[in-house]
Amino acid sequence: MTATLHLGQLIQFNANPFFEGANAAKHVIEGAILVDNGIVEQVGEAQTLRAEHPDAAVQDHGTHLLLPGFIDAHAHYPQTGMIASWGKRLIDWLNSYTFPEEIRFQDPAYAKEMAERYLDLLLAHGTTTVCSFCTIHPTSVDALFEAAAKRNMRVFAGKTCMDRNAPDALKDTAQTAYDDSKALLDRWHRKGRASYVITPRFSPTSTPEQLSALGQLWAEHPDCLMQTHLSEQVDEIDWVLSLFPKARDYLDTYEAHGLLGRNGLYGHAIHLTDRERSRLKEVGAGLIHCPTSNTFIGSGLFDMDGLTQAGHTVGLATDTGGGSSFSMLRSMAAAYEIGQLRGRALHPSELLWLATEGSAAALRDDSIGRLVPGAAADFIAVDLASTPAIAQRATRADDIWEALFPTIMMGDDRAIVQTWVAGSPAL
Ligand SMILES: [Zn+2]
Repeated sequence: MTATLHLGQLIQFNANPFFEGANAAKHVIEGAILVDNGIVEQVGEAQTLRAEHPDAAVQDHGTHLLLPGFIDAHAHYPQTGMIASWGKRLIDWLNSYTFPEEIRFQDPAYAKEMAERYLDLLLAHGTTTVCSFCTIHPTSVDALFEAAAKRNMRVFAGKTCMDRNAPDALKDTAQTAYDDSKALLDRWHRKGRASYVITPRFSPTSTPEQLSALGQLWAEHPDCLMQTHLSEQVDEIDWVLSLFPKARDYLDTYEAHGLLGRNGLYGHAIHLTDRERSRLKEVGAGLIHCPTSNTFIGSGLFDMDGLTQAGHTVGLATDTGGGSSFSMLRSMAAAYEIGQLRGRALHPSELLWLATEGSAAALRDDSIGRLVPGAAADFIAVDLASTPAIAQRATRADDIWEALFPTIMMGDDRAIVQTWVAGSPAL
């Protein structure tokens, strides 16, 4: 395969902007990415790379900004069809909208149709990697991984496990949760670009026996990620404590069953106690911020500043369909708005970092979320003037951050000109 030189504007991080500020990023106005065989070979000034690689095919993207594909670190692909459902808070929202939809995934044809639709929506929005919950049905996991393999996408996913407080049609048991998860893990983990993720939905829908069974499976496969939900709403926390009377707090319901670790991903993590914060920090677990979901379901305001300054690993996510958008641009905008409500205006560099390197760090994968030699060539071209409203604001910008911020705040899939997965154009 001939190497291809992609020309455009670049933003590259040398460090974490939460610690180093905007200086952590370098802006190259006339930049280039050399891609060969699905991998980023070289990144730098266009002039230099063109001189060094005269035989490479050239694709000139003009003033478009070339960025790593976005990484959505927490989503529920089976909720694609019922995103933006009105008027409920978490528990009622699950019972009214989510569970009836998830029951439909027992039909493999329906699961396949939704998995394909979902991944195409992601690619159109510039998201090249997702970490998704599936339903309790193993076929829902097969459907997503098969659709991802067809698109060569780096996807993390797992069978959602629930053996109580859910409709009978969505319940497994401690034993079948273990057996089915193990069979799926054996079938998919590290096959191509797939990673299996052990997935108890959350403590209220798992018995202690099921949590222990999944903790056991994780202990047997410590390189796997484990994903769940933590402290999303105050009512939910009260419910958890009533279901687990001996637990010190919500996190302890996971910790006591072997479900707390560095490879753990804890979605939401809004209403944390001091003990929970220090334990999560101690083990180095990933906290996943889902801002459009937190405002949509009325959950609360994530403490981005406090948690990042304390050194927590934080990723960004849509939480589709509790989240109200498939777009990581919209997620960055909502993270900014929540930051403002907590008195801290996140810089565009911090927002961009969260949606790329931050999420990749939470997923423990340094081959994505960055455009550096050796990384997967999963990248996007972003139009910083994709609508008249954005264009008229961007023309006044004095620097790249001011030029990018209107797209973060007002942009959607129209801003994503092209998405490449492993060096090939998607869609
Ligand atoms: Zn979720």
